[in-house]
Amino acid sequence: PSFAQLGLNARILANIARAGYAMPSPIQALAIPPILAGKDVEALSRTGSGKTAAFALPLLQRLLAAPRPTTTEQEGAPGMVRTLILSPTRELASQTASAIRTCAHGCQLMIGLAIGGVPKDRQTRALRGGADILVATPGRLLDHLADRTIGLDATTCLVLDEADRMLELGFIEDIQAIAERLPTRHQTLLFSATMPPAVATLGRRLLHRPLHIAP
Ligand code: AMP
Repeated sequence: PSFAQLGLNARILANIARAGYAMPSPIQALAIPPILAGKDVEALSRTGSGKTAAFALPLLQRLLAAPRPTTTEQEGAPGMVRTLILSPTRELASQTASAIRTCAHGCQLMIGLAIGGVPKDRQTRALRGGADILVATPGRLLDHLADRTIGLDATTCLVLDEADRMLELGFIEDIQAIAERLPTRHQTLLFSATMPPAVATLGRRLLHRPLHIAP
């Protein structure tokens, strides 16, 4: 199929052309339609498979279609995050945020980054206004939640990227704590290069009637 046949609209197709992608990769062909439809997806996918665009493109289209939640703009209120992407490492989170910014060219969406290893106060100032998409490592995200820099009350989608690596790095409890902060109804996507029992268990716990994809 072409990207257009997967249900992506002209706005997103223009950015795909700009990025130079001619045809969807196998993971993209399988994952984009259900993600656009709002379903939970558990996908087996390695780095290099095109997995970032597989979740970023349909999520951007959904963000553009849905109205931004209305803010009370209260002084000191936590910034709202609409879509949250959890990454195992600072490096992956930074790469993911820049790949998403490329896909989101001209969309006027705020793509935020919350990672450790950089001073928190500058991040805090950037995140107070909220983010349409926030890419974060679990520890720094929990820090910002505790500080009430950001809140997850309006978060409609959670992406667990490289879930197997996050569990290897010991983030299971952080992920659970973060997932508990989201509204009951939300979309969850899990991407993992391998599917050991711990990842399958996490998927069963956090995903609702997921579609399983293994290209
Ligand atoms: P990822 O698996 O997300 O790390 O992506 C691997 C690389 O493939 C990145 O450099 C992407 O820019 C590129 N890429 C993603 N989708 C496509 C596509 N449909 N056609 C060509 N390149 C792609």
